[in-house]
Amino acid sequence: MAAPLEAPPRTGLRRQSRRSNGGHLHSQDATISDTLLTSGRAALDVLGTTAPAEPAIGLYLHVPFCALRCHFCSFTTAPFREGAMARYLAALHREIELVATAPWTPDVRLETVFLGGGTPSLLEAGELADILGHLRGTFTIAPEAEITVECNPESVDALKLAD
Ligand code: SF4
Repeated sequence: MAAPLEAPPRTGLRRQSRRSNGGHLHSQDATISDTLLTSGRAALDVLGTTAPAEPAIGLYLHVPFCALRCHFCSFTTAPFREGAMARYLAALHREIELVATAPWTPDVRLETVFLGGGTPSLLEAGELADILGHLRGTFTIAPEAEITVECNPESVDALKLAD
């Protein structure tokens, strides 16, 4: 069975601010950026010392948005607000790059990729394709890998599935 590799659900990089003023970062943003960079390096230090025990691993990506918050839910979710997915995707792609620099990354292959949530079907087809393309370009994905995307009925239709 593949050892799970769960992408860290909360990392500093995810919340990196990109506010700018005429192309210059505010000093507060620069401080936040420095802090987050340090957090990213610290995360990489941990990743470097936690190599998977076997080469076949599973990758879990958490898409933390839902159209509505269900009262019984205990998962990590946030409202699907304007611009939230774009910010999340920018952070996710940076995080994929970060994990790719772990020294053991060339030695593993992804046997499963699971996008859970939240509601991953809120992703547009192109956004999902970009994620999978980035993973394919970064990691070795087994030819028979199982790739799963959790869907909610209100955010998926035949057209999106066809894409
Ligand atoms: S993850 Fe599922 S159960 Fe939780 S709020 Fe979203 S749709 Fe509801």
